Amino acid sequence: MTTKIDGKKIAQEIRSRVAEEVAVVTDGGVPGLATVLVGNDPASAVYVANKRRAIREAGMRDFHKSLPRHSTQDEVAAVIDELAADPDVSGILLQLPLPQGLDASALINRIPVGKDVDGLTTLSAGLLARGEYGLRPCTPSGVIELLDAEGVAIKGAHAVVVGRSELVGRPMAQLLLQRDATVVVAHRHTTDLAAVTRAADILVVAAGVPGLIGPEHVKPGATIIDVGIHKTDSGLTGDVRASELHDIAARITPVPGGVGPMTIAMLMVNTLRAYAWARRSA
Ligand code: ADP
Repeated sequence: MTTKIDGKKIAQEIRSRVAEEVAVVTDGGVPGLATVLVGNDPASAVYVANKRRAIREAGMRDFHKSLPRHSTQDEVAAVIDELAADPDVSGILLQLPLPQGLDASALINRIPVGKDVDGLTTLSAGLLARGEYGLRPCTPSGVIELLDAEGVAIKGAHAVVVGRSELVGRPMAQLLLQRDATVVVAHRHTTDLAAVTRAADILVVAAGVPGLIGPEHVKPGATIIDVGIHKTDSGLTGDVRASELHDIAARITPVPGGVGPMTIAMLMVNTLRAYAWARRSA
C-alpha cells in the first residue's frame, strides 16, 4: 500500500497554527508581507493573489506593489528599498520570474536578510549552508515539514535530491544534511540517474521534467516527494509517474495537493518568523 501524503491538510494545519500565533501577538504590532509583482504574467499574478489571500486569512497585513512590465532596474530597486526601510513590513517577496532585462539576483539581494521570507538572498543561502539562524526557502522547508508530519525518519536516511536549483534543489539538500541525512544531489549531468535514485530512502524530485521518475528509479518502501508541477491537457502532473509507483513507494506526494500547498504555508511561517526576528533585534 502506498500512502498519499496529504499536503493540503498538513498545510492547512500549519496555516491555522500561524493564524493562532498572529492572534496572540501581544506587543501591539501586526506581522505584514509585501509582495512585489513586476509586469503582468498571468501565472505570477495568480501566485501573488494566492499569497496575499493567505496572508490576510492568517490575520497579517497585506502590502502589495504592482509595477509595470517595462520598469527599470532602478525603479524596482527603489520600491524594494522603500519596503526594506518600512518598519511595518516584516517580509518582502519579489515574485519571480522577472521580465527580461531585469537582474533578478541583484534585486533579490537588496532585500534585508531579516525580511527575506523566500530565503533567496546570498546571505540567507550562506546562513543555511552554515546552519545558522535565518529564513529558509519555502518549498524545501515545506518538504521537511511534510516528512516530519508523516513521521519519516530523516536522520541517517539516504536522501537523494534530483535538481540543484537555487530555489529548490540546493537548499533542499542543505536542509536534509542539517537533519543528518546522507545526501546525494543528482542533476542533468548525472550519468546513471536510476542507479543513484534507487538508493534513496527519501527521494525529492525537483527537475522540472514531466514524468522523469518511474518505477525503475525507486527503491521499494521509499518516500517520494514530487516538487514538479506541469500543466498538461489531462490536468496537472509532476516529475514523478505516480500511478506507476503504487505498491512500490511507501509514501508519495500527489500533484496537485502535495508540495504545492506547503509553499504558501511556509511563507506564512516565514513572515511570522521575520516579524519575531525584527522584534528581537530591535
Ligand atoms: P526548479 O525550480 O523546480 O528547481 P529548475 O528548472 O530551476 O527547476 O532546475 C532544474 C534542475 O533539475 C536543474 O538543477 C537540472 O540540473 C535538473 N535536471 C533537469 N533535467 C534533469 C534530468 N533529466 N535528470 C536529472 N536532473 C535534471
